Amino acid sequence: MLERIEKLAKLLNESYSEKSLYGSLEVFFNENFTSNNFEIITDEKHFNDNNRPKFPLYKHKKCIGYLVFDSISEDLDSFLKVCSAFISLKLQNIMLSEKMQKNIDFHDTMKNIAKIIETQYELHYIIPIIGEMLDKFFADYLIYIFLRNENTGTCELSWPALCRDDKILKVVNNIHQSELSEDEKMYALPLVSESKNVGVLVAKSTAGEITLKDRDYLEQLSVQIATTINRANVYAEILKHATLDALTGFYNRHQLEERIKQEVANAKRQHAPLCGIMTDIDYFKSVNDTYGHAAGDLVLKTIAKVIRSQLREYDIAGRYGGEEFSILLPFTKITEAEMVAERLRQTVEDKIIDISKINPETDTKSLKITISLGIYEIKECDSDEDLMRKADKALYQAKNTGRNKVVINND
Ligand code: GH3
Ligand code: MG
Ligand code: MG
Repeated sequence: MLERIEKLAKLLNESYSEKSLYGSLEVFFNENFTSNNFEIITDEKHFNDNNRPKFPLYKHKKCIGYLVFDSISEDLDSFLKVCSAFISLKLQNIMLSEKMQKNIDFHDTMKNIAKIIETQYELHYIIPIIGEMLDKFFADYLIYIFLRNENTGTCELSWPALCRDDKILKVVNNIHQSELSEDEKMYALPLVSESKNVGVLVAKSTAGEITLKDRDYLEQLSVQIATTINRANVYAEILKHATLDALTGFYNRHQLEERIKQEVANAKRQHAPLCGIMTDIDYFKSVNDTYGHAAGDLVLKTIAKVIRSQLREYDIAGRYGGEEFSILLPFTKITEAEMVAERLRQTVEDKIIDISKINPETDTKSLKITISLGIYEIKECDSDEDLMRKADKALYQAKNTGRNKVVINND
């Protein structure tokens, strides 16, 4: 008996996880009591007593499971009682240390997110890092991060790339407070920072119901994540004001000049064609004078939108001055640029601008506006300034020969 207890004690000492404990015990019992098949049942709910001898495992006087045997002889009874006390102690230790490890992992995750807050500001960079960290920490869950689009007010999936679960997509856009699904396998948390709703975090269990503890972890993490996103949004807003014109969303004059320098240098280095377009709204002053400055602003905004809609993603549009826009067309020859310019001219001419809401007093409900455009393709010998200066020369000619037209500078 003593020898067996020693053997058991040694074995318990060597087991560091629930899995290895069960494995070692199985070997131990098979070797020592060949006639007795045994099992450990840690979940009381599933225990089905067919009059099999069972030895309770305790933790703080609460039964946490049973050692169950098919049959045992009387002399083994006392040994197994001692044995179950040993095993429950070991099991307690293992459970405790597994929990502690999870706590340590949790604090590591929190710490890492805090570090990101301090050093990173760009969401397209931050979100995948947070997503990967959460996936690692919540191994049994699918984690989704949605970001609120300020313009549309809807939440869009940011991590991972795909979500095919319609239930999740439905919950995300109708959420006001944390929500646990009926089957308790999905937990959705709004991401709120400084009273701003910046997105939604969703965890979906691939195993059982979401435990209270994990919900607590998710709640704490959601606060941290919301702070990170909010800070990145604030940063993006600041950056936008520094580089973009507030009215049109185009590059401002300063940023435009920087981009012109870069594009001219690129074109020269790569021997690639580059065209510049200067455009100016026709008779714009009279719009302001007749319908007011606010209507003028709306015209500017609308025309900027129309121009942007006609350009490729890598074309560059800037607000050169009051109602003058500059457009850079990289990798574009003059013949193609002429087609682009003509398309811009035509689209603006076709656009009907509704001013009824801005200026309800006038009888005129809508305006039709035209623009004039000048184009120039850069040459090897040209400087940065030459590109827009020579395009402007063509624009001047367009103005002087009737407006609402495209003129090419063939210098
Ligand atoms: P043209 O087609 O011949 O150039 O005639 P025009 O009326 O456009 O003449 P001009 O270019 O001199 O007038 C530009 C006007 O643009 C003057 C100014 O009041 C107006 N403007 C400039 N910036 C803004 C702005 O931000 N908002 C509004 N509403 N008007 C602006
Ligand atoms: Mg002008
Ligand atoms: Mg003008």
